[in-house]
Amino acid sequence: MATISSHIAVMTFPFSSHPSALLNLVRRLAASAPTVRFSFLSTAKSNQDIFSGQQYDNIRPYDVSDGLPEGFIFAGNVHEPVEAFMNVIPGNFKAGMQEAEAEAGVKVGCLLTDAFLAFGGEMAEAMGVPWIAFWIGGPCSLSVHLHTDPIRSTVGDIGTAHKAEQTLKFIPGMSKIQICDLPEGIVDHLEMPIAHALHVMGLKLPEATAVVLNSYEEIDLAIITDLKTKLKKVLSVGPSILALSSPPKPDESGCLPWLDKHKVASVAYISFGTILVAPPSELAALAEAIEASRVPYLWSLPDHSRRHLPQGFLERTSIRGLIVSWAPQLQVLAHTSVSIHITHSGWNSVLESISYAVPMICRPFFADNMLNCRMVEDVWEIGVRVEDGILTKSGTMKAIQLLLSDDKGKELKENIMLLQESAVKAVESNGSSAKNFEILEDIIGFYG
Ligand code: UDP
Repeated sequence: MATISSHIAVMTFPFSSHPSALLNLVRRLAASAPTVRFSFLSTAKSNQDIFSGQQYDNIRPYDVSDGLPEGFIFAGNVHEPVEAFMNVIPGNFKAGMQEAEAEAGVKVGCLLTDAFLAFGGEMAEAMGVPWIAFWIGGPCSLSVHLHTDPIRSTVGDIGTAHKAEQTLKFIPGMSKIQICDLPEGIVDHLEMPIAHALHVMGLKLPEATAVVLNSYEEIDLAIITDLKTKLKKVLSVGPSILALSSPPKPDESGCLPWLDKHKVASVAYISFGTILVAPPSELAALAEAIEASRVPYLWSLPDHSRRHLPQGFLERTSIRGLIVSWAPQLQVLAHTSVSIHITHSGWNSVLESISYAVPMICRPFFADNMLNCRMVEDVWEIGVRVEDGILTKSGTMKAIQLLLSDDKGKELKENIMLLQESAVKAVESNGSSAKNFEILEDIIGFYG
């Protein structure tokens, strides 16, 4: 790498899809600012997963403590590693940053953190440098964290009796969102450590120099307009997958040649993201629905969940199904044979489905999933939520039939193609995301 002109410390929330989404943004920035050093601070495990042998000229990974005791064995409780990590921030990041500064020989001139790491605000202030926060979800979930206090007081006023279906019409752009769609930690599960962290985040983000989103303005104009009144700068720069040409992910399980053998728009792709473990009864019901619908399927399913599939399911459906422990999701969704995405409605998955115009069947589980699902079904009308919000054989079969139907299925496909078109335009030169990215480059170039 040429002489380092400036140095940016990047701090991740090292769980689920957070680190890879932030790395995608950093890769875009690093490509456009070759003399800027990006020190990417995350836990050893997360760095190992996302860098996996890849090297970049001006991005250097640094491992920070995960707070877990020596020899810790993950027993399935996702809260455990998160809590251990929350206990060692920000000290672990400070130590990592010192190491990075010593190695680069250049002081850090800007902090780019996952928005979850609200301490970034104070740290940046103490260092006299700007704080850029990256929000990994959509505008809709960012909005509820910025409006947590008004939401809490409204729910308090209306009491608990009818609150579930009460809509958030007092927040611009959120009139279709119901209280029951809110992530844990806004009006319930307040005891979770992450609930406190997210509340603090909502109060701190207005101090950030800029808040960056992997989204695009046209998808939620009213929400973005409102966010702009609350934050100093809101920069929607996505969808990053359309803006960044990435080398194809390895297809170790042969998903793509398998898809090549199927008819155009015939296959259902199933995935529930990076950390979620679906309940055994729902996995069994989903398998039964797929078998009875006779729809070809590609299922990204962790190995430890396979035992919950109905006996003989794999053998009976092997002719039209493939189960893998990890799929190259972008290439899968981009494949012409895929017509349905059965998803937990994590933000990245939803945005990827939009980017490749694949209508969704949503089974939301946690965090922002319910909000995203509401937007998919009731605002953008590009998919449906499974009946009663859980996977049953009959409810899932109905949803599959609906998506494959000539009337409603066609309408959902047309709607998602329109959104896809606006997403593509947003990242083209002069598009809203491209312009926002230039503003971000200026901030990085100016302060870094
Ligand atoms: N993903 C993938 N292959 C899989 C499963 C997931 O590439 O088999 C990727 C997917 O493309 C997306 C991310 O993992 O980028 C999941 O992110 P999302 O926000 O949807 O859900 P989370 O994992 O954060 O709950």
